[in-house]
Amino acid sequence: MVAMRPLQSFFRATLAPAGLTTKCRHFTMSAVINDRHKLQQEYEHNKILWAGKKLPEDVNPKNVFASNELDLSEIKVYGFDYDYTLANYEPAVEHLIYQLGKNILVSKYRYPDEIKNLKYDKDFAVRGLHYDIEKGLLMKIDQFQQIQMGSVYSGMTPLSEKEVLEIYGKRALPLDYVEGHLRGTPKMAHLADCFSMPEMCLLSQVVQYFKDNDLLYDTVSIFNDVKSAIGSIHPEMHRIVGRNISEYLIKDAGLVTFFERLRNSGKEMFLITNSPFYFVNAGMTYILGENWRDYFDVVVANAKKPNFFVINRPFRELNEEIDTQTWGPVNTLEKGKVYLEGNLNHLQKSKCWQGQQVLYFGDHPYSDLADVSLNHGWRTGAIIWELDYEIQCLNHEEYKKISGWLMVLQTLIESSQDAEDEGCRQLIKEWEKERDDLRKRTKVLFNQFFGSVFRTHDNPTYFSRRLFRFADIYTSQLVNLTNYSINHTYYPRRGVLPHEYKSFFV
Ligand SMILES: [Mg+2]
Repeated sequence: MVAMRPLQSFFRATLAPAGLTTKCRHFTMSAVINDRHKLQQEYEHNKILWAGKKLPEDVNPKNVFASNELDLSEIKVYGFDYDYTLANYEPAVEHLIYQLGKNILVSKYRYPDEIKNLKYDKDFAVRGLHYDIEKGLLMKIDQFQQIQMGSVYSGMTPLSEKEVLEIYGKRALPLDYVEGHLRGTPKMAHLADCFSMPEMCLLSQVVQYFKDNDLLYDTVSIFNDVKSAIGSIHPEMHRIVGRNISEYLIKDAGLVTFFERLRNSGKEMFLITNSPFYFVNAGMTYILGENWRDYFDVVVANAKKPNFFVINRPFRELNEEIDTQTWGPVNTLEKGKVYLEGNLNHLQKSKCWQGQQVLYFGDHPYSDLADVSLNHGWRTGAIIWELDYEIQCLNHEEYKKISGWLMVLQTLIESSQDAEDEGCRQLIKEWEKERDDLRKRTKVLFNQFFGSVFRTHDNPTYFSRRLFRFADIYTSQLVNLTNYSINHTYYPRRGVLPHEYKSFFV
């Protein structure tokens, strides 16, 4: 008898606003249906109801979203990361990183010359994937460390659910297996950096090359070589981007408006980046103009985050004329000067900033936001450029129709699952097959290999969980904040807990 209740609640919640309340009353069922014909009628009736339902409104890709309440009137100090936070890059940067890394593999590590013929596939990987270093598998996992079946790749070859279960013997990976890298015993690498997409693509393609050519290879060595090759290209990449700024950097006039507004409102500002100053200077001059440093009270380059937030390492002052650090002690942090390395405690003490008055923006949930959020009480904003594209996918009519019907179908399956009639059980199997097909269709709308950055079919991804934990607000670009007042309060949406579902909508 309880079995049909979710269906009633579901229609109260979803169909009533479309004026279908009267029709929904037909769904008051008190017993499991054990007649295939009647069950099929339920399905057809639901489908007709759903087809008449108005599709949800579009989400604005330029919105700012809140995981936690944030009142901007309490914020006195704005801090920023540089790469992919202030600096928004063209896709050409990913191609450049891939190309330089590939060249190192061949020229320095003596990988086969044919590797040079590989081409970057920008549509292969998404941010937030995990790589099993010993098993050589790239995969997407959710907030419970459950593997998303259909999103596990050995090289560029997808693994079936059966193959995955043969390898791991379970659907969910132990936390220690996934997060061992935090304790110095890495089994898996979490690829959460914006620069990691070309690395993942190169790694997968190289593994595939070895497989296709029946060459013996060690998965750990290939992972280390590709990681090392990509890690070593930064100086060259900085030089090339620095010389061709307009080719690689997106200039948005809205950023000047954003900074002017902060300055006119009396906010203090600082920049903490891991990149070298000459590279940041070239980019910021292009984005904000020659006098960009006037906006900032403190500028720190080569900060080596997240260590900047953890280790009490002294600041060094940069001598810009000879482009090297000075030897003298740094006691105060002065506007107009450039500092290297350093640490958060010295920064806060020197400027007398209190944690809750500081709002720091970065694109990396861990190295930018985790420590300041968890240990120092700073408020945090994540710049997640993938959000723009993903919201466009959510707004797609096909996605709205499929995802809506999926919810109805899943509720039908849940409500009918205890049917004992063989014909009914066969019908439910058909529905389950339809559900699986629809799930695949929604997945490929985002990315044909791995789906959405933010969710598996039912759950937030591992990446999303971290993002929501460490970021008070998140948005696709910094300039989106100019759509709100300087004293705006961002409120999180009241989520419905599983046990609240019915009472929330009645
Ligand atoms: Mg960054």
